[in-house]
Amino acid sequence: MIYLDNAGTTKMFEECLSVHKIFSCENFFNPSALSNESLQVEKCIKSAESFILEKLGASEGNVIFTGCATESNNLAIKGMFRSGDWEYVFSAGEHPSVFNVAKKMELDGVKVKFVPLNQKGQVDLVELEKKLTNKTRIISIMHVSNETGAINDLEAISKLKVKICPRAILHVDGVQGFMKIPVMLKRTLVDLYSFSGHKIHGPKGVAGLYVKKKENLKELFQGGGQQFGVRSGTENVSGIMQLKKAIELIDEKNNYEHVKLLKQKFIEGVSVESGVECVDFEGSPYILNVVFNGVKGETVLHALNQAGVIVGLGSACSAKKAGNRVLQEIGFSKEKIISSVRVSFNAYQTLEEIEKSSQIVVDVYRNIRSRVS
Ligand code: PLP
Repeated sequence: MIYLDNAGTTKMFEECLSVHKIFSCENFFNPSALSNESLQVEKCIKSAESFILEKLGASEGNVIFTGCATESNNLAIKGMFRSGDWEYVFSAGEHPSVFNVAKKMELDGVKVKFVPLNQKGQVDLVELEKKLTNKTRIISIMHVSNETGAINDLEAISKLKVKICPRAILHVDGVQGFMKIPVMLKRTLVDLYSFSGHKIHGPKGVAGLYVKKKENLKELFQGGGQQFGVRSGTENVSGIMQLKKAIELIDEKNNYEHVKLLKQKFIEGVSVESGVECVDFEGSPYILNVVFNGVKGETVLHALNQAGVIVGLGSACSAKKAGNRVLQEIGFSKEKIISSVRVSFNAYQTLEEIEKSSQIVVDVYRNIRSRVS
């Protein structure tokens, strides 16, 4: 089986398993208790936090550990929400874990603005400038699109914030960016940055939210006051330490170059067939949109699955629904959206594997075409 749905989730590093055992069966102590053993566990969590801050290129701030990035995104937006005459600005390309929060706020009567995307799939900076005002409370724009791989320019967005709405909070959903493309938060004005363990070969059930000033973030639920009172509940120590392990094992720079080659190889391989169109948004090398002209993406997905290749249709939520809001926003025709498939790589795949997968893709497509025409 060749797995090309790595933006959906990744295979966990086996090295995480021994970390799980250590922090579940040996150092299993509650980090909030007062024994020496507990204090040691607390120190381990602190070391994971410092390590992640370093990887984010942050010069200040904290990490709040959560159960998934959906929770991180909800915490970021709802925790920074304030009633009053404020406006909330979102890119139109956000993942459902941000977009649906924005939609709900809108339904509740909050002033919400959506910024359109340009044809490269990035947030349109001219439009963003028009939407920002001195009443903007939160700007929420993802780093890398989970649908297209398009990368938003966080430094340019920061400049607009400082020019128009210096009091605004800038939240970035970094799930498809962290440990995949360079992140240097200290060069930006990002206040909050979400990430998720299972997208970077860590376990499911652990994620985080970088927060520059935790004092401003309100908790979503009340409890024992763990994690500065922002996220009560006993920390998932094993998950946090496995996440740290996964991050330690990732060699970001070399991975980036390697995945670029994988993407290039795949594009070359499938481009021999004129009906297969790779729409490269010149963004993250990890994600590629492929259009199978004249055939439904879903049909291709199932046929490829039979042939041993797993691809995706976009985010897990849009995968089960008709249409694709983000591709529509970029200006894809209805036919093109229906025929789209998302191919996403990981850094541990070989060029041979990718070459093989591209041949299978071409064969499967030709086979479907020959049956339908
Ligand atoms: N944000 C983006 C950009 C994603 O791609 C995903 C997952 O697909 C999420 C948020 C949600 O992550 P999680 O599955 O950890 O809740």
